[in-house]
Amino acid sequence: MSEGMSEADLLKWFTSKRSTVEDLLRHRFFYKPSFDIYGGVSGLYDYGPPGCALKREIEDLWRRHFILEEDMLELSGTNLTPEIVLEASGHVAKFSDFMVRDTITDRCYRADKYLIENMDKLLKKAEVTAEQHEEFERVKSKADTYTPQELHSIFQKYNILSEENNPLSYPEPFNLMFATSIGPSGKHRGFLRPETAQGIFVNFKNLYDFNRNRLPFAAAQIGLGFRNEISPRDGLLRVREFTMAEIEHFVNPNAKDHSKFANVAGLQVPLYSQEQQEILGGHLLMTIGEAVDRKIINNQTLGYYMARTYLFLVECGVRKDAIRFRQHMKDEMAHYAADCWDAEILSSYDWVECVGIADRSCYDLTRHAEKSKKNLQAAEKYETPKIVEFIDMKPNKGAIAKVYKQKTQDILTYLAELPEASKAVICKDLEENKEISITINENNYVLNQTMIAPVNSKKTINQEVFYPSVIEPSFGIGRIIYSVLEHSYREREGLQEARHFLCLSPSVAPIKCCVLPLSKNDLFDSSVAQLKENIKRKGLSCEVDSSSSTIGKRYARCDEVGIPFAITVDFQTTSDNTVTLREAKGMTQVRMPLLDVAKIIRKLVDKTVTWENIAGRYPSFSANTN
Ligand code: AMP
Repeated sequence: MSEGMSEADLLKWFTSKRSTVEDLLRHRFFYKPSFDIYGGVSGLYDYGPPGCALKREIEDLWRRHFILEEDMLELSGTNLTPEIVLEASGHVAKFSDFMVRDTITDRCYRADKYLIENMDKLLKKAEVTAEQHEEFERVKSKADTYTPQELHSIFQKYNILSEENNPLSYPEPFNLMFATSIGPSGKHRGFLRPETAQGIFVNFKNLYDFNRNRLPFAAAQIGLGFRNEISPRDGLLRVREFTMAEIEHFVNPNAKDHSKFANVAGLQVPLYSQEQQEILGGHLLMTIGEAVDRKIINNQTLGYYMARTYLFLVECGVRKDAIRFRQHMKDEMAHYAADCWDAEILSSYDWVECVGIADRSCYDLTRHAEKSKKNLQAAEKYETPKIVEFIDMKPNKGAIAKVYKQKTQDILTYLAELPEASKAVICKDLEENKEISITINENNYVLNQTMIAPVNSKKTINQEVFYPSVIEPSFGIGRIIYSVLEHSYREREGLQEARHFLCLSPSVAPIKCCVLPLSKNDLFDSSVAQLKENIKRKGLSCEVDSSSSTIGKRYARCDEVGIPFAITVDFQTTSDNTVTLREAKGMTQVRMPLLDVAKIIRKLVDKTVTWENIAGRYPSFSANTN
């Protein structure tokens, strides 16, 4: 697999290798289906030791790349969430996918995904015309925007049946949340959180106070999300319990520029904009700066996070030519969202959303403020106070009393308590229609221009009070892990037997190095123990493989688990205290003092030196062991 492959060739390569890669991952216990001794449960996976270590490395990298680098506030909220929170967020009413059932067997399918699968089948047919090709592609690209009625007629049009060839039901919404009850009474409904974001919104006021009432700021959380997926497939890519890493960046809606935007403005990223999707084109390379200037990306903060996300994915080991940012189409985006882009990664499962980056405007905080009746606004002091003009109203008590007698006080109180904006609306209505009608305790009152007079007023204000907008990058860690693993799969060329390995970046590799005594011999024990001790002291994970397999076989095993460096203790070590250090990627080796090894590996992992630097500094070593 080389750089510069076309998208189609890359997809073909990934697809041809999927079963080998998945066998390797299962065999080396990166992950496996949970509870498989009882037959397993679809959509649930356990990570084994290397998978667990890789997951932790990717989460740590995420923490460094976002939380530390951007001075974010980290939070850890609960998984159990009371119903009221998810009612406010809209999840109780709307967090659903459309489902169709096999009318005979009752087997369920997620309608949009099943439609895409069926379109793919049609696209693969030999006799497809250019016109049909475009039609099928368009249906695919719109699959998750159709209403149930539209889905139903499309299923009818293409005669889509279940996998057992039975008719399918009319699409119905299925809420993806796992419901439970909190406490013994059974009266308090709750859910396992479908995302970590709500835990940040409900803590907005505390976070804002903690940040000394300054905006913008970002809060972040890594934790589990639970979604009762209708038909989980595709391994780690569509599961029912998964780790999410989410950022909520709170910003003044009128000031979405980012102070560090200049650092990323020149970065070229692959953008698959609404316009490109409309014409069924491909993604285009463009700098983030140009995309924001041309308003393809809504604002600097959104663009900043897209650029930082791109750099993060590349740092994890995702191939640059297998990343694109796909903009949500207008009918795909939530009504409140200002703009939304998915970072999609190409793997054998095609392009898959791995990160969603959305400008959610002020929807979330407004909803929680309304439901909780708590103030979730922010305020920003003006440098110099502002004098603003506004229209006030002056009720004429006598004129009102003449008509409404003892109800006068009710009317005056009602008018006095109206918000400023409503007073302006009433005055405008009065001017246009000569009278207005109001309702107090179910009684209607008609007021005319003699009863209310508009007054032009002025006031001094010192601060702007508003609901912050939220820019939300939301990462699915499992999807990134799978993509990294598939992208890092390599096969050695020119060897007698095909030998495959995982070429993981040292910064995320689950185990950084392996110490191998050349053979079973007590002479090597003290050097092995010293190496292990030195390496652990540098905070690096390390394995010792003193099994009796040949050194070549042991290197091959290290390569398969993605261990980037191997140190061999041999007979020369016992005389001059040097060892060999091997880099898995190129299979080259150098000889160096045992005492240098730990610090060199630390530098290689931290990327403060390259393998080429090391190979230039120490004598090379060759033995026919690879
Ligand atoms: P969303 O809130 O739907 O935009 O999801 C945020 C991120 O979570 C996505 O970009 C995915 O990476 C990840 N994700 C969503 N659903 C699943 C799932 N069923 N299994 C694994 N990852 C998921």
